[in-house]
Amino acid sequence: MQAQKRYQVIVIGGGHAGTEACLAAARMGCSTLLLSHNIETLGQMSCNPAIGGIGKSHLVKEIDALGGAMAKATDLAGIQFRILNARKGPAVRATRAQADRVLYKAAIREILENQENLDIFQQAAEDLIVENDKVIGVITQMGVRFYADTVVLTAGTFLGGKIHIGLENYSGGRAGDPPSIGLANRLRELPLTVDRLKTGTPPRIDARSVNFDGLEEQWGDTPLPVMSYLGNVDQHPEQICCWITHTNAQTHDIIREGFERSPMFTGVIEGVGPRYCPSIEDKINRFADKDSHQIFIEPEGLTTHELYPNGISTSLPFDIQQRAVHSIKGFENAHIMRPGYAIEYDFFDPRELKYSMENRYIQGLYFAGQINGTTGYEEAAAQGLLAGANAALAVQGKEPWCPRRDEAYIGVMIDDLISLGTKEPYRMFTSRAEYRLMLREDNADVRLTEIGRNLGLVDDERWQVFSDKREQVAVEHQRMKSTWIQAGSAEAKLLEPKLSAPLTREYSLLDLLKRPELTYQDIGCLKGNVEVEPQVAEQVEIAAKYSGYIERQQQDIERLRQHENTLIPEDFDYDSVQGLSNELTQKLKEAKPQTLARASRLPGITPAAISLLLIYLKKRG
Ligand code: FAD
Repeated sequence: MQAQKRYQVIVIGGGHAGTEACLAAARMGCSTLLLSHNIETLGQMSCNPAIGGIGKSHLVKEIDALGGAMAKATDLAGIQFRILNARKGPAVRATRAQADRVLYKAAIREILENQENLDIFQQAAEDLIVENDKVIGVITQMGVRFYADTVVLTAGTFLGGKIHIGLENYSGGRAGDPPSIGLANRLRELPLTVDRLKTGTPPRIDARSVNFDGLEEQWGDTPLPVMSYLGNVDQHPEQICCWITHTNAQTHDIIREGFERSPMFTGVIEGVGPRYCPSIEDKINRFADKDSHQIFIEPEGLTTHELYPNGISTSLPFDIQQRAVHSIKGFENAHIMRPGYAIEYDFFDPRELKYSMENRYIQGLYFAGQINGTTGYEEAAAQGLLAGANAALAVQGKEPWCPRRDEAYIGVMIDDLISLGTKEPYRMFTSRAEYRLMLREDNADVRLTEIGRNLGLVDDERWQVFSDKREQVAVEHQRMKSTWIQAGSAEAKLLEPKLSAPLTREYSLLDLLKRPELTYQDIGCLKGNVEVEPQVAEQVEIAAKYSGYIERQQQDIERLRQHENTLIPEDFDYDSVQGLSNELTQKLKEAKPQTLARASRLPGITPAAISLLLIYLKKRG
């Protein structure tokens, strides 16, 4: 066969991880190939048509700040936008968008097809070419060989994928797509630790067969939120309504009848499922005292009648699915368009990765997405971007990059995965981050855009918009710091009805902003008619209101950073550290933490053990 063009980076798989990976590598100037089963399914949402939500939107905004595609595509495809936790503190506020599946895929495909340095080829990757523990290329299903310096693997739920509906099962990558069997077998020959996980999806319902009378409506927010820092509401398509219904005692009885034919309860499925996104049978089994569960009815798009009933993911037999659905208010005559199912698939122990996402044993091979034991589009996309960027950095002979835990949720996720591994599908929550107040979705651009620019991920347009905003925030902060209000002045009188205690001296606007009872809107315009973008005002306000907490977190971070910079060589001999228990020695040998800070986050590792390691590391020089 004719020799193919040689690439610097090949990405296998065009899901959420793969698309961000190939875009990142190409943006950084590497000749890149995206190899995926089917061009029509690039950017496909395998399960719920929604992007963002608590913890997840933080990842989306970080991807966006680094020039990624997910937030942009969401703004073009979102048919309902909401800010979750709007009344809570800024650390846990989260944007969630219901997306039109077709528009989302179209947006991703357009971005991919217009990316410089990126070629797309539709074929299954069947084999990896590995020489002397280094990957040098990929062989496709029809035997085409592509050679490359690096390969990023993002095969999602497809490796050894097995679909379950009741006690029936068959091989598949997700419903309607073939599994990746050849590649899965090949990967099992390599020195990688493989295990099985599972996930599931609900039956889809035809809206024409649903009785919406009496169902609770749920509309999006006004004013309409946007996902991308460059997005604007004019990009959003038509906005539509979702509904809420509930399961009931009858639904639960029907589902219990199906337990004996459930692949989960009969041991047919061995893989562990996502604890935080359980199937309806799992919920009924685990929370037996509850006689109702909420179901969000989410349209799949503007040009389809298909509905996604969020909350009833199931792998029960189809007859049980039908009866259970019909017992639910509004679904009495519902027609199921696609049955619910569970899927089991191969994943690889993420502890075998470096922080660059490169495999420790096979040089040049990077892993991202569901195959690292995560679940969710956002988690996959974030890993993809990082893996693609690091593959590009390796090609360019540069040092790898991974954000620290205090810099980004991406850093938290990678650190959790690589130092702790996972036994169940890992999803992001704000509670996983110890520096939540620093890692807000509103400041992901402040945290990451400059880094992204230096890496070559951020284009001129984004850089200009970001730089302008940064400048405006600095100017407004300074103005508020140096603008004063006297007690008893006309401005102070205007504020009086809102104040918990009257002003007794002169205050700067910034000091006033620190008071919980006052907002930027109350005081921003007290002296002079200043026009400030809402995003700029938000940054000034959050920085003022939370300055005390933020300073304290900053001090903690500085303290920890010293350990972050203390590298542990890969060949470090833990056995030689006297005073370290056998258990901890074993743990450290398995985890091979790259820095002292990462060692300190391993479960069970005590401050005393860290001190011992520090002494030995210093001795080693
Ligand atoms: P995927 O999106 O799966 O993309 C993998 C891509 O790789 C596909 O394009 C595929 O065609 C391609 N590919 C695979 N093998 C090859 C090969 N050998 N050669 C070429 N191309 C290949 N997430 C949630 O957050 N909540 C849920 O409730 C949820 N439920 C789910 C239910 C189901 C049934 C499924 C399938 C997934 C579910 N997910 C859920 C997970 C979510 O879909 C994934 O986390 C996300 O899509 C992972 O992205 P990825 O890029 O890693 O993989």
